[in-house]
Amino acid sequence: MFVRIQDSFLLNVMTTLYKEDIMSKLQEILDYNKLFVENKEYVKYITSKNPNKKLVILSCMDTRLTELLPKALNLKNGDAKFIKNAGASIMHPFGSIIRSIIVAVYEFKADEVLVIGHHGCGMSNLNGDEVLEKIVQRGISKEVIETLCNAGIDIKKWLHGFDSVEESIKESVELIKSHPLIPKDIVVHGLVIDPETGKLEVVVNGYE
Ligand code: ZN
Repeated sequence: MFVRIQDSFLLNVMTTLYKEDIMSKLQEILDYNKLFVENKEYVKYITSKNPNKKLVILSCMDTRLTELLPKALNLKNGDAKFIKNAGASIMHPFGSIIRSIIVAVYEFKADEVLVIGHHGCGMSNLNGDEVLEKIVQRGISKEVIETLCNAGIDIKKWLHGFDSVEESIKESVELIKSHPLIPKDIVVHGLVIDPETGKLEVVVNGYE
């Protein structure tokens, strides 16, 4: 009984600390934001919603690329539409990535697409089994996972990334180029970026 009370006390303390941490993160952002707007720091970022360089870029959410990628490609605010996810991969021909590309092409006049993967990607050889184990450890019941499996959702396959970043990029480029709703004059390139130096390698040159 004593142990139980102590456990629940510890749990409460940890939950409170966790909540405070989250709340302080949001507060920090809001405090900064207030000054950002008041000091008119936004002025130098004002641009139109159409991408100036008529580019759409599909890339990875990797945090090393947040500032590095646009700097390494000489892209400023307003130059390109950015679409990001884990691994710069297209999971479905009618999913949100392709939908975003279609909107960028038809609504925002983009005419070239760059698919940019990177070396050392977290989605490279991501082990679906290990992620599933972590999901269970964080309190998601095995019954929930079984129910999803029974409903035909192959979670391991869905979580699995790719074996080769170059192959994954080639597949994405091919999928975009051959998509029935994407016009044939849209140029699609595939590149790999070094997440430290920003150096680009061309995997698919869309002009060739
Ligand atoms: Zn990545």
